[in-house]
Amino acid sequence: MPKHFNTIKIKISDEEKNQRLEDYRYALKNGFYFGPPVDIDDFIKRDIFDESVRFKCLSCGFEDNLEYDILLEMWDESVSDYPILYCNHCSKEKSVPIDIYHKQTLKVFR
Ligand SMILES: [Zn+2]
Repeated sequence: MPKHFNTIKIKISDEEKNQRLEDYRYALKNGFYFGPPVDIDDFIKRDIFDESVRFKCLSCGFEDNLEYDILLEMWDESVSDYPILYCNHCSKEKSVPIDIYHKQTLKVFR
């Protein structure tokens, strides 16, 4: 969980779980799964959450979601407080987590 903005956690559905298990079994069978073994019973019983971050463009207001795992590959919290991404709508480097967006736009109106 980053310090300067929130993430959204959404519980995945049973269908999604089954799909992931199928992917896991397939990967295992074909020898391209290299992580620690998954306890399947535990996986089925547990609530699994997908974590994502809502982004909003400071330039055009376009909103987008990004998986937190993917974001972590592009951004290092020890380097900057929050990530700034290229907007998928206006292509400017102005898309920030929505909490940051609100803080920045508040400053503008103050
Ligand atoms: Zn934009």
